[in-house]
Amino acid sequence: MRDRVAGRVRDIIFYEPGKPVDELERELGIASAVKLASNENPLGPSPRALEAVREALGEVNRYPDGSGYHLKGALAEYHGLSREHFILGNGTNEVLEIIAHAFLEQGDEAVIAEGAFIVFQIVAQLVDARRVLVPLKDYAHDLKAMRERVGPRTKLLFVANPNNPTGTAVGEGDLRELLEGVPQSVIVVVDEAYSHYVARSDYPDATSWVRDYPNLLALRTFSKAYGLAGLRVGYGVGDPELVGYMNRVREPFNVNSLALVAARAALSDEEHVRKSVEVNSQGRDYLCRELGRLGVPCVPSQANFLLVEVGDGADCFRRLLREGVIVRPLGGYGLPQHVRVTVGLPEENERFIEALRKVKSGRA
Ligand SMILES: *Cc1c(COP(=O)(O)O)cnc(C)c1O
Repeated sequence: MRDRVAGRVRDIIFYEPGKPVDELERELGIASAVKLASNENPLGPSPRALEAVREALGEVNRYPDGSGYHLKGALAEYHGLSREHFILGNGTNEVLEIIAHAFLEQGDEAVIAEGAFIVFQIVAQLVDARRVLVPLKDYAHDLKAMRERVGPRTKLLFVANPNNPTGTAVGEGDLRELLEGVPQSVIVVVDEAYSHYVARSDYPDATSWVRDYPNLLALRTFSKAYGLAGLRVGYGVGDPELVGYMNRVREPFNVNSLALVAARAALSDEEHVRKSVEVNSQGRDYLCRELGRLGVPCVPSQANFLLVEVGDGADCFRRLLREGVIVRPLGGYGLPQHVRVTVGLPEENERFIEALRKVKSGRA
């Protein structure tokens, strides 16, 4: 069977999705498991987005607006840019795939941090590009080292800011130095899926830099703070000419009509975003404090999840599962001693801490 498959596809890293909650509940025969594995918004979607979806349901016989006119208009206003700066995707994941198709040819290089969001590597593999992997430094992107690995065939350089699964962010000074230091021929992709949750004051909003750097692409998503992961919508922001080429690669109706209206409504619901960020910041503080009490190290996080050093990550993951708590093991990321836990509602966070306490004391 292997022979029938395109060479570039054979070794593509398999993206392992989190275990579904209902499946675990059925397995364990329990009523309520908690899923802290996919960095979703524990408050749920914005009520405004739900209302917009209900209103739009009656028209799903129609194709969506393939240009995303209204959502792009709202985004243009939100970011102080024009519609032409935006490309919409069926999740940011699709935008990443479009980027790979638009800018990489076989044998081109993409510079990627080892231990960065795994999809960067997957999309490079998809188009038979070479992955130039640069180790993280103190769990963070080492932008200097990444810049040094840029060569004549480098077309893309990826930065997740904050990074998933480590939760670290790079500051304004370092990102600017990178953008000033790489050749114009290298497109720098800054994935800001978790931007709303960042606490550090020197966090660079890359979407506001695209007028200064025509080789910069910033990515955002509606899957995290906006609470719309299930609808699949994200976007890229960049120079209109660059974005124009990406739009040629895009499937004509890639974002569905419900996602379009929900995203627009969610963008306008500042109160829901504010609440989501607040719940996250309190939960993140709580988890750090309690992990400290348990003597379990964790990496300070700028996102809605924590990288927790548990010793044997795969074993801890299985034991937590038996307690009805789903986290993310990170062997695939080269972090076998860690698990990633999403910040949940207070009761979910407590449930995780209790389960981990049992694991640590050998009672689970
Ligand atoms: C969750 C996440 C995204 C969002 O992906 P969608 O396809 O929009 O759901 C993008 N980048 C990173 C690093 C993420 O962790």
